Amino acid sequence: MWEKGWRESIWEGLGEPWDLIVVGGGITGAGVLREATRAGLHCLLVERRDFGWGTSSRSSKLVHGGLRYLKEGKLGLTWASVHERERLLEEGPGLIDPLGFLLATYKGDHPGRWTYSAGLTVYDLLALHWSHRHYSAQDFQLLAPHLAQDGLEGGFRYGDAQTDDARLVLRVILEAVAAGGAALNYVEADGLLLDGTKPDAQVCGVRLHDLVGDGKREVRARAVLSATGAWADELRGKVGGTPAIRPLRGSHLIFPGWRLPVAQAISFLHPVDRRPVFIFPWEGITLVGTTDVDHDQPLDAEPTIQPEEVAYLMTAVEAQFPSLGLTLDDVISTFAGVRPVVGSGKADPSKESRDHVVWEEGGLLTVTGGKLTTFRLIALDALNALRHRLPDLQPLSEQVAVLDRVECELPESEGISGAERRRLLGRYSASAPSLVRAAGPGEMTQVPGTPYLWAELRWAARAEGVVHLDDLLLRRVRLGHLLPEGGKAILPRIRAICQPELGWDDARWQQEESAYLALWRDHYSLPDRDAIPGWKPLLEEARARQLQEAPSRPERATRVGAGAVLLAVLAIAIVLAWRRRRHHT
Ligand SMILES: Cc1cc2nc3c(=O)[nH]c(=O)nc-3n(C[C@H](O)[C@H](O)[C@H](O)COP(=O)(O)OP(=O)(O)OC[C@H]3O[C@@H](n4cnc5c(N)ncnc54)[C@H](O)[C@@H]3O)c2cc1C
Repeated sequence: MWEKGWRESIWEGLGEPWDLIVVGGGITGAGVLREATRAGLHCLLVERRDFGWGTSSRSSKLVHGGLRYLKEGKLGLTWASVHERERLLEEGPGLIDPLGFLLATYKGDHPGRWTYSAGLTVYDLLALHWSHRHYSAQDFQLLAPHLAQDGLEGGFRYGDAQTDDARLVLRVILEAVAAGGAALNYVEADGLLLDGTKPDAQVCGVRLHDLVGDGKREVRARAVLSATGAWADELRGKVGGTPAIRPLRGSHLIFPGWRLPVAQAISFLHPVDRRPVFIFPWEGITLVGTTDVDHDQPLDAEPTIQPEEVAYLMTAVEAQFPSLGLTLDDVISTFAGVRPVVGSGKADPSKESRDHVVWEEGGLLTVTGGKLTTFRLIALDALNALRHRLPDLQPLSEQVAVLDRVECELPESEGISGAERRRLLGRYSASAPSLVRAAGPGEMTQVPGTPYLWAELRWAARAEGVVHLDDLLLRRVRLGHLLPEGGKAILPRIRAICQPELGWDDARWQQEESAYLALWRDHYSLPDRDAIPGWKPLLEEARARQLQEAPSRPERATRVGAGAVLLAVLAIAIVLAWRRRRHHT
């Protein structure tokens, strides 16, 4: 799709007048580009790092309703999210796939079985998809054999979904480009063009800085939309917006699948602060996340897990899987992302709302916050808010598929398994046949220890807008997360395949390789081990505190409470489901 010279040719053609310029190439910007293009707008997206570099490649990769939103009484957000989950599962098999979740209940747990049962009933009703079931302790042990057994009373299984977040961003952008949109990575909007004089001046374009070629130019548009996530205050500040973002970091640990084996996600409340955390399988490894803390590192640097977060996540692992004896030596890699949350000054970061917001200031429309899962709805909301600037914008519909239907077939002869076929079509959609055709001898085999084919590396280097080596190894394929030392041991073979495709000389390859390995060491590995607090004492303290604080409410009161909550939400769920059905017809 983006073959040699694509950046230069788009940069040269930038002078044309645009209907809309989208700043930020995460999932929000990608969604806006896709929907704007579909609605007939001439639209350009610019991203100052790589596509998906921001939060959208550092999420927990769940396409989910979010049980916690139910607990907070946010039925609308849960309803929208489960509805989006169902649609994405239908539209993007191989990219968005079902994931089972297990929720264990232990003796004396609060919330306990009845509350979970009520919550999951509502969750399923909102999705109009009955997925949950209760298991006895004995059966539950078969589902999660290594889970802590002490006091286990049983548990639930329910259904959600997961994705490869960076590939989701790329697929949406590439489909927008195929439909006539334009997108450039490594181009920063470092200034806003104003029409008229302050204080009534309105934004009428952006000043762009090509960080690869070092060119600068001013580009005008009828509307400018900032989808810059946690960085939203930077551009808002240029039109007098007062800072509103409270950047909250969420970090993950990655273990080999064989060392922390889970066939489905395990969801539980962290013993220290009762926040929901997950341990789940993804791409053959096991992810543990996440934290939720104020991010006081500079926003222009790669976010990095801190020693206290490592201890917090290890506490969670130790609490749920004590028999596995996991240590820091088992951790393959780490990653951290920054949530674009609108701050309201709450003492506990986890109490801040995760809803998205749309602001218009001096003609600049900003959309930030929200979830990966609901990107289609966020994009439509943002575009609707622009309608007064773009009156010719065609009607927008929530019912149109956001992902293109994949109609191509893969060549039969390549010995591709059914699962690989599904994965390639989901991730590469219309480009999958070209990827297979471009494969060199032996490249339709898997990179050891990963689900990726060597051919995916060749294709990404050739046609997916790779500018630096970390674009290739952390976002096009996720080898940097899955392999020890970021895949250092296989760099020679990667070089043999990719260097000619990228057109880099030996000096450039060496420079990229050194930069990648340094980046990995500084931001994707564990912090200094001496600085990581011991997690076993943390767990003991948490357990002692829990015993002291054991609720005095009798079990019956909890059941009655849960029943009342269930009845109330059932009524609302029925109304929502009825409204949804009416919307469809
Ligand atoms: C730890 C964690 C776990 C999460 N897990 C989930 C989950 O499981 N499921 C879910 O649905 N959601 C999840 N989320 C939320 C979700 O990831 C985010 O809401 C979403 O990715 C935000 O996307 P975005 O496009 O708004 O921001 P980003 O992805 O951050 O994109 C903004 C982009 O703007 C670019 N940019 C900034 N300024 C400029 C400029 N001046 N010029 C050009 N480009 C610029 C940045 O480089 C960045 O790439 C999670 C978030 C975190 C932090």
